[in-house]
Amino acid sequence: MAEQATTGAEAVGTRTEPMRYRCTTCGNLTRFDVTTTRRVRAFHHYTVGGELSVEDPVVLSESVDEVLCRWCGTGAGVVVLAFGEAAGDTPGVASGGGSDAAPAERA
Ligand SMILES: [Zn+2]
Repeated sequence: MAEQATTGAEAVGTRTEPMRYRCTTCGNLTRFDVTTTRRVRAFHHYTVGGELSVEDPVVLSESVDEVLCRWCGTGAGVVVLAFGEAAGDTPGVASGGGSDAAPAERA
């Protein structure tokens, strides 16, 4: 069940699970403006003609600076969900696709 590919070589500093957020003000689970600072080291491979291809990117450090709710326009009510908390068994959210509807008002 837990199929973990522990490849330490390419997964340096990267999170295997994405962060999930919830706006406690409006209940938004799907729309956020996230500002992230990320330091990445990569192999910049130039051709003789100067064409660049970036290879083997490694995330050295990553930090989330700000998370704003798309609907509220503020991060005041945004909380971080524990991994798995929002996956599947979220009460109040109808399963079966189409989780894009704005929670408060619909046109
Ligand atoms: Zn909100």
